[in-house]
Amino acid sequence: MAGILVLARMEGGSVARSGFELLGAARSLAEPFGERVTAALLGKETSAYLKTLFVQGADLVAEASHPSLGTYAPEAYLSALEQICRSLDPSMILLSADSIGRELAPRLAHRLEAGIVAEVIDVAVTDGIPHLISPAYGGKAMSVFTPKGYPLVVTLKPRAFKPLRADESKHGEVVEIDLDLPPHLLQVKVVEQVKEEAAGVKLEDAKIVIGGGRGLGGPEGFQVLEQLAKLLKGAVGASRAATDAGWVPTSWQIGQTGKTVGPDLYIAVGISGATQHIAGVSGAKTIVAINTDAEAPIFKIAQLGIVGDYKKIVPRLIGKCKELLGR
Ligand SMILES: Cc1cc2nc3c(=O)[nH]c(=O)nc-3n(C[C@H](O)[C@H](O)[C@H](O)COP(=O)(O)OP(=O)(O)OC[C@H]3O[C@@H](n4cnc5c(N)ncnc54)[C@H](O)[C@@H]3O)c2cc1C
Repeated sequence: MAGILVLARMEGGSVARSGFELLGAARSLAEPFGERVTAALLGKETSAYLKTLFVQGADLVAEASHPSLGTYAPEAYLSALEQICRSLDPSMILLSADSIGRELAPRLAHRLEAGIVAEVIDVAVTDGIPHLISPAYGGKAMSVFTPKGYPLVVTLKPRAFKPLRADESKHGEVVEIDLDLPPHLLQVKVVEQVKEEAAGVKLEDAKIVIGGGRGLGGPEGFQVLEQLAKLLKGAVGASRAATDAGWVPTSWQIGQTGKTVGPDLYIAVGISGATQHIAGVSGAKTIVAINTDAEAPIFKIAQLGIVGDYKKIVPRLIGKCKELLGR
């Protein structure tokens, strides 16, 4: 092993949380080998953010500032990452399995002629060998990967790893990477970024998520879920059946082709429990299912199940929560 490199990128004027999650995982892989953890910091003006990466676990920061890295553009980011990897020669390169990481990782692996392991939810070093664990068949089985060679590109499921506790006393080394990003390389130009307006807690950050599915029968069912979510300071998500039907925005979709959530509590309402949906909630600590069909697959993974019509059960839950919260 020759060190681990993680992608830390800027988002909304600060380092994106994903970079801190990757640093946490990288430390547990690097420490048993006495190896260093490097954060590749990509952005336009990044010098003010170096310290935070040391505090969150980096030994070294590869600072790659460039005007073309101000907003995410695939070719620019890919080329910058490739140049950093060629310069520092890490054994493993960790990226978040978010939409950006999913786009960059396979392309980076191809360029570096590296192996790739995707959607990892746990890492360990046993008998001097790194183990990378990722769900298979929508979480029904776990695959354990051990590297047969390096470099290796790895994507980590968002929220599966927690950032380390900040250590303000930590310092590190900075290496400036002189990037070569000629304009002809940049085929995609970001002209505008529009932030989706969202009220309440962000789905990915919520400690309590209530997911609604086809069983709600229409968009009005989601209004009931929103009432419950508001009381519990949670967020509402949806199955693909509900987003495809246009009942709620696609950004609410949870699952294999949607968002990954890792709340303390996930309440699945009118959701059958298809593997593609479950893939997005495997990080939930407790799953509660409400479904009219006692045979629905969701009950196989739920710790607590209520068989019945959500139209009767959810209002009763709302009433009980109000009572307990004194509202
Ligand atoms: C490549 C691919 C990717 C996919 N990606 C995703 C993804 O990211 N996320 C995702 O969710 N799906 C995804 N899917 C779709 C997935 O396979 C399922 O079709 C989908 O999850 C089903 O959604 P559902 O559970 O809401 O609907 P259904 O499977 O139709 O289930 C509805 C449930 O509601 C129950 N119900 C009915 N009435 C009530 C009531 N009044 N009260 C309580 N319960 C009731 C029923 O018993 C049933 O179990 C993907 C599919 C493919 C092929």
